[in-house]
Amino acid sequence: MQRSALQSKRELFFKSDTVSGGGVSASVPPSAAPPAPPSTLKDALSKRSATLPEPQETNHVEANGIATKHSNSVSVDVSKPPSTAPPPTPAPPVPISAPPAPVPTPLRSTENIMKKPEHPPVAPKPDLPKIEKPKTKELDGYVGFANLPNQVYRKAVKKGFEFTLMVVGESGLGKSTLINSLFLTEVYDKDKHPGPSLRVKKTVGVETSVVLLKENGVNLTLTIVDTPGFGDAVDNSNCWQPIIDFVESKYEEFLNAESRVARKAAPPDTRVHCCLYFIAPSGHGLKPLDVEFMQRLGDKVNIIPVIAKADTMTPEECKDFKEQIMKEIGQHKIKIYDFPESTGEEGDGADVTKSLRARVPFAVVGANTVIEQDGRRIRGRKYPWGIAEVENLEHCDFLALRNMVIRTHLQDLKDVTSSVHYENYRCRKLAGLSHDGKPHRTNSNKNPLAQMEEEKREHDLKMEKMESEMEQIFQTKVRDKRAKLKESEAELARRHEATRRALEAQARELDERQRALNAERAAWERDTGLSLDDLRRRSLEANSKETVDGKEKKDKKKKDWSFKSVATGISI
Ligand code: GDP
Repeated sequence: MQRSALQSKRELFFKSDTVSGGGVSASVPPSAAPPAPPSTLKDALSKRSATLPEPQETNHVEANGIATKHSNSVSVDVSKPPSTAPPPTPAPPVPISAPPAPVPTPLRSTENIMKKPEHPPVAPKPDLPKIEKPKTKELDGYVGFANLPNQVYRKAVKKGFEFTLMVVGESGLGKSTLINSLFLTEVYDKDKHPGPSLRVKKTVGVETSVVLLKENGVNLTLTIVDTPGFGDAVDNSNCWQPIIDFVESKYEEFLNAESRVARKAAPPDTRVHCCLYFIAPSGHGLKPLDVEFMQRLGDKVNIIPVIAKADTMTPEECKDFKEQIMKEIGQHKIKIYDFPESTGEEGDGADVTKSLRARVPFAVVGANTVIEQDGRRIRGRKYPWGIAEVENLEHCDFLALRNMVIRTHLQDLKDVTSSVHYENYRCRKLAGLSHDGKPHRTNSNKNPLAQMEEEKREHDLKMEKMESEMEQIFQTKVRDKRAKLKESEAELARRHEATRRALEAQARELDERQRALNAERAAWERDTGLSLDDLRRRSLEANSKETVDGKEKKDKKKKDWSFKSVATGISI
């Protein structure tokens, strides 16, 4: 019972490259011996330890539709292995012979996958003694290393998997709908991810959302990178630059993590493993923006071209459009991800992969709705004339895309990212080249002293330049200050002049009033026959008389009071 559960698990894990649904199915019967994991998986797993990804905000989505949210931590259910995982077996120390030296594998599909940049000539390697292949020996009994794949399997399941998928294309081409359809869940929240018209931005942004998906106890941390605003402006020149910057920043992060003195055995892999590029279903081939984007990004990330909204074309139109696109991709020497013909499987599996591979660029239909028809639940788009079924290979290539990207080639996408794109970035970076392949500086084979001299010269030149710039700035500031001072001086003079004029006017007015008063006085003196001096004298006399009278009266009053108080005995 346990053995069959283990076997089915292995089937799922190592041989999950069978295609199901849409009439294409090629299941492989379980074999008795534990299957050897594909070499790519082995490489990937041997590089990794059981470290968990960095904490970050995630949505936790079960593949069966149950979704729970996790904040600031990636929730990986690793406390106990899944019930269907292989049973723990006692692991006696197994002497493991040193693995053979890795044989450099040539870059796959030299036409479509990018070539490595040319490096400075390397000294020829000395002839090494040939290592003889060890002879195969039969064992007398069961030692236990046949269990190694199970150990790798358990470790991989415990750790979980990471995958970063980028979607690029104009707004409204159905990117978010397709992502939801791909993972059979609402990767995009409706609240957080409003309709296209609301998301149209003037500039290209790069947004990431992380979800944790679970399927049969296998955890996949999926990062979706969206690029809202791409191709939506009137002038789309350079709208690919934020995307290039993002992709390279992830390589940079990985390189930094790898180059640390105290580094993790396996730094979190946030590099973009796959880019679905959405082409509008115009029927007229690629637009200049499509060509430009794919040309620029083709050697940095695995591009998979996708024809959006394939239900808007008839099958013939779709076929012609695909041919046209592939022709233009060839003409413009665009590097797209080249699905390897074989992923290790044989027989039906290989044939299916071959047939699905021929469907590139995938013409897809996306739908968030499930329709009930004849007791069947179909994900599709309902029209008066019928239903465009998403998961039907006769209606569109959605299933081919999902099988190729998730079931059969996910690990290969990661491997190509790591061994081709990231390696190229790393080489460029360490060789001091910028992203366009031009040298940052000429440092190639110079001796260190000459280089230091050159750097010093450059530094001095830079300082001189800075000094002259500062001098210029200073001069400008002094000029501005002088101009301001002059301005305020003029303003002061203007105000002074205005005040002077106002005072003069006031003085003139006062003079006039004085004159008028004098004239009035003269007229009055003439009329009354009195002079003002006479009037003043008379008034003084009258005043003094009044004062004397008043005083007398007061003295008299005082006397009366003193008399009364003496009589009453009150002192005043
Ligand atoms: P995004 O802006 O690229 O993420 O586009 P959306 O996924 O928000 O979809 C924009 C509109 O196109 C929505 O009304 C979808 O229902 C619709 N749509 C999505 N996929 C398809 C498709 O395959 N065919 C058709 N005809 N419409 C689609």
